[in-house]
Amino acid sequence: MIETIAFDADDTLWHNEMLFSEAEQLFHEILADYADAQTVRSKMREIEHQNIRLFGYGVKGFTLSLVETAIELTEGRIDAAGIHKIIGIGKSMLSAPVLLLDGVRQTLEALHGRYELLVITKGDLKHQQEKLKASALGRYFSRVEILAEKDPGAYQDIVIRHGITPERFMMIGNSLKSDVLPVLAIGGHAVHIPYHTLSYLEHVEETDIASARFHLLESITDLPGLLGQLQSEATP
Ligand SMILES: [Mg+2]
Repeated sequence: MIETIAFDADDTLWHNEMLFSEAEQLFHEILADYADAQTVRSKMREIEHQNIRLFGYGVKGFTLSLVETAIELTEGRIDAAGIHKIIGIGKSMLSAPVLLLDGVRQTLEALHGRYELLVITKGDLKHQQEKLKASALGRYFSRVEILAEKDPGAYQDIVIRHGITPERFMMIGNSLKSDVLPVLAIGGHAVHIPYHTLSYLEHVEETDIASARFHLLESITDLPGLLGQLQSEATP
């Protein structure tokens, strides 16, 4: 049965998306004299979406996209003090404390030693490494993979490099696009644990996933129970 369990990090192990929502709010305030909130939001998303393939995911690329959005929306009138405030938003996101989701530590404690545990995340290399260190969860994981993109090819590469059999591999995460669909595509098991808010960059059209290898849980604390159930079904 399952031998290797990989966890997404942002909004699966620790809170993340709320930092982006708070940053967006502060950004709206900086641009309040130039554009309404809806205009700011749609311009910001348009620019961020275009920039993802150049900057990748994470706070640093996000901050550059905010600067570019501000310059465009103010037609170049934003001053150095305004740009400085935007850079300050990015810096405070990078130094924000890491807040674990409820039940993460006890779940990892329960699974550690019984399964090989991995982290598979995407984003800024340095920031993700620092969040993992600040989380004090590092000792539970035998490997940490920080990827530029989570697609079937990237997961395929991981299972090949580590000699993992896809049928014995399970990925846990809050994004259908990044943590579930590509893992099902390579023959692995995937557990979706939705977080209360999802980045528009992770949005996929509502899909009915008809796979026996797909599981939906409300909380990470339900994971040991699911694994026990799968184990008992596999050994009649
Ligand atoms: Mg995530």
